[in-house]
Amino acid sequence: MRSLYSKLILFTIGIMLASGLIAFLAVNTFYHQQLKAQNDEKNIQIATDIASSIKASDAIVIDDFLQTIADVGYKIAVVNRDYETRFYGEAFRKDNLPENAMKLVLSGHNYHGMRDFPKETFVTGFFADEVANTAGVPFEHQGETFALFIRPNIKMLFTEVHYLLGGMFIVMGIVSLIGIIYLARQLIKPIVKLTTATQQISDEEFTVTLPTNRKDEIGQLAGSFEAMANKLAASDRLRKQFINDVTHDFQTPLQNIQGYADLLHETDISTEDRLAYTDIIQSETKRLSVLTKQLLLLTSLDSLTHNVTKKRVSLSQQIKDVLQTHRWLIEDKNISIITEIPDCDYVGDPASLEKIWDNLLSNAIKYSLPDGLVELHLQETNDTVVFTIKDNGIGMDEQQIPHLFDRFYRADNSRHAEIAGTGLGLAIVEQVIRLHDGKISVTSSLDNGSIFKVILPKDKTQ
Ligand code: ADP
Repeated sequence: MRSLYSKLILFTIGIMLASGLIAFLAVNTFYHQQLKAQNDEKNIQIATDIASSIKASDAIVIDDFLQTIADVGYKIAVVNRDYETRFYGEAFRKDNLPENAMKLVLSGHNYHGMRDFPKETFVTGFFADEVANTAGVPFEHQGETFALFIRPNIKMLFTEVHYLLGGMFIVMGIVSLIGIIYLARQLIKPIVKLTTATQQISDEEFTVTLPTNRKDEIGQLAGSFEAMANKLAASDRLRKQFINDVTHDFQTPLQNIQGYADLLHETDISTEDRLAYTDIIQSETKRLSVLTKQLLLLTSLDSLTHNVTKKRVSLSQQIKDVLQTHRWLIEDKNISIITEIPDCDYVGDPASLEKIWDNLLSNAIKYSLPDGLVELHLQETNDTVVFTIKDNGIGMDEQQIPHLFDRFYRADNSRHAEIAGTGLGLAIVEQVIRLHDGKISVTSSLDNGSIFKVILPKDKTQ
């Protein structure tokens, strides 16, 4: 396959040759259709003028007179009654004057050799340096009839200006060819770079250097390409980090389970220890099960687009149901609950919306101290539904807040080291809110508790 570079150059040379050929054909046709007859007319006129000048003065020395005219830029042939020909000026390339042309002129008629010069000749008649390609008129001198045939001496007509123009065209051709070669190179270079970059990316090498400073379409393409490479690099980093986190989070409980299961095999352990080990194994198994469920949920949420199947659902009922399922935990920690949950319908994905209330409430309870207070408010405006959940638990410091929604993030606060969790709950909450084009904000401070505020826009199309 030919490269784009050679294609571009060949194409340009092709255009130059084709335009030259078309221009030549056009000029040639114009010459045959228009100029040839005019040219013939003009030369007949000149020959007639010469003939009249000769006729006007018998004293004129024909040879000298015609030689002078030839010197000005003409080729002349004079034929007498005996068909003897004398030439003036530079010799014709072809001495092919037909006898009937001589007869015609000697009998007093004009000869239109230029006008009637064969059309088939592709090298235009204008340049055919033949005696047949002349204008002929009769003239009389000292009582004798002659035939005068003339045509311009093309060589003499070609002045320095014509050579300069010719030179100019050649230089133009060479310069434009060099220009095209340079342009093609400039055009191809970034494409070659982009191809190399594509190969680099397919080899998972995301740091690519591209000509992004260009202002043209290639610059734009390079810019988008670099942005894509950066995004791929970021998602590759996230993917590797994710696999790392998942492995780590599965590894720890599995090691615990294995360790305590080994201990259970020992014969000299007390019933108390046995129960404690079994409890640990149970809680670690539960942790693994929750982790697996949450991971599956996150993956399925990731694959959903914004077009989730939406249904009308009562948010107030959902929140009340979630409160009910956490009732035993609330009572266990003796937490007081204040609710303001008026009836509120919303169009969204019911199953995923439930995850928002479930995760936020379970966090508020988990990170509350015994005898704490949790408040839940639901508010409806014309365009939105706002859910606020407030606790007076352990809270977080400012540096932790930006990372809350990262997958596997858990604040390594010594006080909540023993609080079970996976670090996936808020990531799930954020993903569900994003699917509903909503927003979530957090205000929190250490020891003063936290406030999570969810704003969901109403879907006006349903
Ligand atoms: P986890 O399973 O650890 O609760 P989440 O994704 O739900 O995971 O929360 C991430 C981290 O955010 C938690 O580990 C905790 O540090 C912090 N967090 C979430 N909710 C609260 C809250 N109500 N009070 C204090 N810290 C919270």
